[in-house]
Amino acid sequence: MSFEQFHLDPAILSGIEAVGYTTPTPIQQQAIPAVMEGRDLLGLAQTGTGKTAAFVLPILHRLNRQERSRQVRALIVVPTRELAEQIHQATIVLGRNTKVGSIAIYGGVSKLPQLQALRRRPEIMVACPGRLLDHVGDGTIDLSGIEVLVLDEADTMCDMGFLPDVRRILSHLPAKRQTLLFSATMPEDIRKLAVNILKNHITVQVDPIAPAKTVSHALYPVTDLLKKDLLLALLDQTPTGRTLVFTRTKHRTKRLALDLANHKYRVSSLQGNLSQNRRQQAMDGFRDGKFDILVATDIAAHGIDVPEISHVINFDMPDTADAYTHRIGRTGRALQTGEAFTLAVPSDEPMVREVEKVLKAKIERRRLPGFDYGDFNPETQFRQVRPIQPQRNGRQFGGNSGSNFGSNPGSHRPGAGQGTRRAGPAARKSSGMPSIAGGTRPDFGRRQSGRRG
Ligand code: AMP
Repeated sequence: MSFEQFHLDPAILSGIEAVGYTTPTPIQQQAIPAVMEGRDLLGLAQTGTGKTAAFVLPILHRLNRQERSRQVRALIVVPTRELAEQIHQATIVLGRNTKVGSIAIYGGVSKLPQLQALRRRPEIMVACPGRLLDHVGDGTIDLSGIEVLVLDEADTMCDMGFLPDVRRILSHLPAKRQTLLFSATMPEDIRKLAVNILKNHITVQVDPIAPAKTVSHALYPVTDLLKKDLLLALLDQTPTGRTLVFTRTKHRTKRLALDLANHKYRVSSLQGNLSQNRRQQAMDGFRDGKFDILVATDIAAHGIDVPEISHVINFDMPDTADAYTHRIGRTGRALQTGEAFTLAVPSDEPMVREVEKVLKAKIERRRLPGFDYGDFNPETQFRQVRPIQPQRNGRQFGGNSGSNFGSNPGSHRPGAGQGTRRAGPAARKSSGMPSIAGGTRPDFGRRQSGRRG
């Protein structure tokens, strides 16, 4: 299967070739023809499945074939500034041989450059709700010419309380338009939103709930007091590439980043109290390999595409299983594999169960070899009594007594090429627990050069 089958404009095919995509991903295979037909669509696709191109390509195709307009014609609404910037960049790269212009609109930065860019009459706008509504209120953005609306990461928008803003935005749009709604998960809010704003839509679904199958998961039971030391020891022992560490609060993010920096790690932090400039610097530095570790709040969990993140470490357990999915979606993207480590304290037990329900498998429990746990016994935590379910390959999912404790940190080094600061020790011992990763990579190819979109 190739991109030619979609009969995309040659200018767009050449953009696809330039970024090096050779085979459409499953979400692209399903969504692109429907979007090109003008259908409304609900795309249930996890992060890292190529959903950006699934809507950007048909939009570019549609706009490039028509006369240039002086109005914005495609609006992509997203929850975070980083995601807005990222989709804007993907649009520029994929549309490099078209005459279609794009603009990113988000808060935390001066309006002036946005006003200047608006004068160039971009036809695609990627925007966060708050700043978009500011501009609409100021009369500097007119949404009456919108032909296509995309709500990306719509589940996050509901989570983050953007729904009233989204409704206000909708009230400024023409009723006759194409609407595309993308979400990694399907909570009740999304179902309602979908019913209200989509007309005669089709639903395409690509593994919407479970995190990428290319990621393997491990749980490190620990106490609050020992957490930081365990993280340091874990980083010390594990051959990590680019590593994203999630904490629960802005304050913990800041403090942990400082602690890691004091231990000579090349680390940066990303949290909502930083200015947009500092946020951008943190993301760019992480992406470019200036930093090996990014410590972040959940702000970084949504839609951020940094290639070659080898490890996601939940320093703090996320609040919901969906949040776990989003965080873990930062690794194992496209063609790579990744590892997800979660440091879990005893009170995290209910959430561990929730996450395991979503994964449909027990997460391997591990004790970090050589680490002084004092009186704490990781083996007695998060035990699970569950019948052993046979797997097709003859191995088993789920232990029956918590006895399937692995004792080594991950030894396989996933696709991370750059930024490795140290190599870890011995190979992983067999833990009796199948890796959730299982090597089922998405069946699509990409040339090595110019990989980022
Ligand atoms: P997304 O889910 O849109 O954030 O995309 C995840 C990653 O997959 C990005 O790095 C994209 O550049 C990449 N990607 C998107 N489509 C393809 C494709 N057809 N082949 C290879 N990589 C792709």
